[in-house]
Amino acid sequence: MLVIGLTGGIGSGKTTICHLFEKLGVPIVDADIIAHELTQPDQPAVQKIIDVFSPDLLDEAGLLDRNKLRQIIFSDPDKRFELESILHPLVLVEIYTRIQAMDAPYCIVCIPLLLETDMTENIDRILVVDTPEELQISRTRERDTLTSDEIQQIMSAQVSREQRLKAADDVITNNSDIANLEKQVTVLHNTYLEMSTS
Ligand code: ATP
Repeated sequence: MLVIGLTGGIGSGKTTICHLFEKLGVPIVDADIIAHELTQPDQPAVQKIIDVFSPDLLDEAGLLDRNKLRQIIFSDPDKRFELESILHPLVLVEIYTRIQAMDAPYCIVCIPLLLETDMTENIDRILVVDTPEELQISRTRERDTLTSDEIQQIMSAQVSREQRLKAADDVITNNSDIANLEKQVTVLHNTYLEMSTS
């Protein structure tokens, strides 16, 4: 099966694009959702995370405080690498277990940090969502409670727009409305279907 790795910066539109592919019947694997599942209470990764970080990261219900964790890792690169070294191997195993179980011409694997963490093994094509930075910031601000500074901090820990475009096999430009995104998704869908049969 053809495996398309979808990536892009914070608030670039990855989830929105996944939903559009999903509407066309394409199976989606989302690394963020898997990471979320792997950090639910009682998952082995949670104990490892609090051993490395601090038990203060758990709230009264035993849930990981994701905002606290995000603040720590985006202000301290070493901590970010430590978290990645715990989570990423588990996420990768889960991604490929899910792909193995699929029966479709192609699938989309959404990995926000595909290029930053070199998770490109087993990915056939890299699909980049390219979004002007000011739109990334304004859309993220509308969606989250993050401040502009926090968003900038996250963006500076991610690869640049130029680096992403350089690595891309395919690009979706998200600088307009959803109808425009839908058109680009449909064109790519047909291309991927064709590729998967050739
Ligand atoms: P993150 O990696 O930060 O989770 P993301 O790349 O998955 O973000 P989305 O959640 O898809 O990005 O988009 C960010 C916000 O921008 C969402 O609220 C989404 O509805 C909105 N959005 C995305 N694309 C468009 C668009 N073309 N027009 C209007 N709103 C958009």
